[in-house]
Amino acid sequence: MKTIASFTVNHDRLEKGMYISRVDGDVVTYDIRMKKPNGGDYLGNGELHTIEHLFATYARNSEVSDNVVYVGPMGCRTGFYLLVRDSVSHERALRLVRDSLTFISDFEGEIPGSKRAECGNYAEHDLDAAKQTARDMLSVLKNWKENDLKYKE
Ligand SMILES: [Zn+2]
Repeated sequence: MKTIASFTVNHDRLEKGMYISRVDGDVVTYDIRMKKPNGGDYLGNGELHTIEHLFATYARNSEVSDNVVYVGPMGCRTGFYLLVRDSVSHERALRLVRDSLTFISDFEGEIPGSKRAECGNYAEHDLDAAKQTARDMLSVLKNWKENDLKYKE
């Protein structure tokens, strides 16, 4: 079998940030890397789950919601993938991610979709850790520019 493109990125040199992972037709996949790969510090399961619910809720209620294809966590627990149609500019995608992280940082109350009937592991959430990671990522992406979206060689 072929090695899929995302495995060919040198994860030892990958830092926290936001990158263009791949483009398939009109769908752009962004790599939102929240932890340094193989750095010994990973997103906790509850935290990952809470970020997923809040990130997806925000993105799917945003101005560009019709062009959000998917938001989901990486199995390695170092980040998320965001898939959008290419009618959303890179700059706009970056803004969507920053706005989503701000939403998570400030979130209070009941996590959307966290009732038993709505989710496959409804009790496994960690809002405090999610907020802490969102704040950390906001500082990472504060001055992130379109040029920074390319994986470094
Ligand atoms: Zn869930």
